[in-house]
Amino acid sequence: MTEERKLLLDSLPAVHNAISWAKFCGHEGATEQMTQLAERIAALLAAPAPEPVACCTWSQWEPVIGYPEPNIYETSCGHTFEFNEGGVADNEFEFCYSCGKRIEVAPLPKEVKQ
Ligand SMILES: [Zn+2]
Repeated sequence: MTEERKLLLDSLPAVHNAISWAKFCGHEGATEQMTQLAERIAALLAAPAPEPVACCTWSQWEPVIGYPEPNIYETSCGHTFEFNEGGVADNEFEFCYSCGKRIEVAPLPKEVKQ
């Protein structure tokens, strides 16, 4: 369960409590507002939790082990992409040009001892 869902779930009893108090005090405006809030929270909780988004992993191309090319990436969907300058973050790439999934950049390979 995400932190947001847990917060919504935890807030419902307090909202229902507030509705009871607003009704008890004869405050129709507050009763109406709190009731709408409770309905919105219940609707959000009733919706299925979003599926985790699949990613396309981009790894820097490494023609020689330990010497990755900084502008060239191999994608997990089986392609190679070369930037004129910089990398994924520098060029503000968020989605793979080929498969359309969100890009996840693989950590750089471990440095090779000289
Ligand atoms: Zn891809």
